[in-house]
Amino acid sequence: MAKPGVTIVGAGLVGALLATLLAQRGFAVTVFERRRDPRIAGYAGGRSINLALAERGLHGLRLAGMTDTVMELAVMMRGRMVHHRDGHTELLRYGRDDSEVIWSVSRGRLNTALIEAAEAAGARFEFDRRLDGAQFGADVLLRFQDEAGHAHEQRAPFVIGADGAGSALRAAMNAMKPLGERIEPLGHGYKELEIPPLPDFPAASIPPAAAAALARGEPFAIEANALHIWPRGNYMCIALPNAEGSFTVTLFLPNEGNPSFATVDSSAAARALFERDFADALPLIPDLEKDFDANPVGLLATLYLDRWHIDGRALLIGDAAHAIVPFHGQGMNCGFEDAVELAELLAGHSDDIGTVFAEFERRRRPNAEAIAAMALENYVEMRDSVADPAFLLRRELGRVLAERNPDRFKPRYSMVTFTRMPYAQAFARGAEQDRLLRELTQGKHDLGEIDLAAADAMVRGRLKPLAA
Ligand SMILES: Cc1cc2nc3c(=O)[nH]c(=O)nc-3n(C[C@H](O)[C@H](O)[C@H](O)COP(=O)(O)OP(=O)(O)OC[C@H]3O[C@@H](n4cnc5c(N)ncnc54)[C@H](O)[C@@H]3O)c2cc1C
Repeated sequence: MAKPGVTIVGAGLVGALLATLLAQRGFAVTVFERRRDPRIAGYAGGRSINLALAERGLHGLRLAGMTDTVMELAVMMRGRMVHHRDGHTELLRYGRDDSEVIWSVSRGRLNTALIEAAEAAGARFEFDRRLDGAQFGADVLLRFQDEAGHAHEQRAPFVIGADGAGSALRAAMNAMKPLGERIEPLGHGYKELEIPPLPDFPAASIPPAAAAALARGEPFAIEANALHIWPRGNYMCIALPNAEGSFTVTLFLPNEGNPSFATVDSSAAARALFERDFADALPLIPDLEKDFDANPVGLLATLYLDRWHIDGRALLIGDAAHAIVPFHGQGMNCGFEDAVELAELLAGHSDDIGTVFAEFERRRRPNAEAIAAMALENYVEMRDSVADPAFLLRRELGRVLAERNPDRFKPRYSMVTFTRMPYAQAFARGAEQDRLLRELTQGKHDLGEIDLAAADAMVRGRLKPLAA
């Protein structure tokens, strides 16, 4: 049977990967994108310049045959490099060794590579088409506008919305049949700043600690293979490396209170905050004032929907269905899992789109809700707990128990990041393990105080073996 044509709105990360996977499976795919072609106009991002790519996302890219292309753009991050207030740093490894790491990739380069792969597989892109509205009947009528203000219309048997957190397709669907939408703001925002590559530093302001790296011809001002964190309780800074030697720094602050984006509302206030709280980062950001004034404060929220589809007419995927806060580095990874799942379902049952959409939502929504919850929890972990001795003891014990009982104990971060175990299972298993760790470390200050043989017995008694 001939496969139906597939219409996608949004050529972001998820839309472009879905287009690739479907075109490779013989579907005639058309993608409508609000922005201009990034290969001609340059990438107009607007948020997070780089992203952490983990196993779930890598799996989608592998299926699309894109691993080599993407890995050329990626910088390995072995763990969190924690920058304490007193200036000392420590690397908390993410996994056992270099087989368990995450990768920092440029959003713009990854998106462009995905668009190229989709086109090479036969997908067709229409850029400069902003979806303005949709009507759902026997088919779907999509209304677009271009930058010049001209209107365009397109009819399709069904449409997939990969148009991000502010999805226009979701708004049109919601107007037709309420989706049970809830948007929960985090109450914290973010601002991006930059640590330039060493050769771009003004000569007079090369930080002394980086002079040796510059002399060796290395472009990175701080350790390249880490995700840097400056945890400060209720707020934090992070920095992810870029392949050419710079780091994208993100300052996360509450929207209200002190300090917050309400009090740190000028570049002078930002400098004062950095002098007080991020003193070792300040010399690395020579254009702090310029970056602070030029970059907007990004908003953070979690999106929950009771329904992701309207019959066999429209379906939402990626951030359009389940935008989450970025603290587990999983939004794109989760969206790539969506794309893989949907491509497989469509390839198997393209004669019954309504069933495919319902089944997709049934499989993915519990997982999206689980990673949304874990991402919220991880904000507390990153900004606060990585400097808390009780958390560090539980974390250390978790690593030891995982080494001693690899078939039964796996840190939750590892289940989320290095495996494709459904997020909902990782969430539930993580809660069981955490209860056990809290019991075992109650009143203890050091790993040496814990009876590891008794701990192993508890693991074997209370935790079922993990699926291989
Ligand atoms: C600060 C920050 C850091 C993050 N870090 C990570 C990370 O480290 N790892 C990770 O996995 N995830 C991360 N994420 C999450 C990640 O960015 C998103 O989950 C991911 O971009 C979702 O992809 P998407 O394709 O669904 O949506 P988007 O990337 O938002 O793409 C949507 C596309 O639709 C287009 N579009 C929008 N409206 C219309 C319209 N009306 N008509 C036509 N086209 C339209 C847009 O131009 C865009 O191209 C982060 C997010 C933020 C905010």
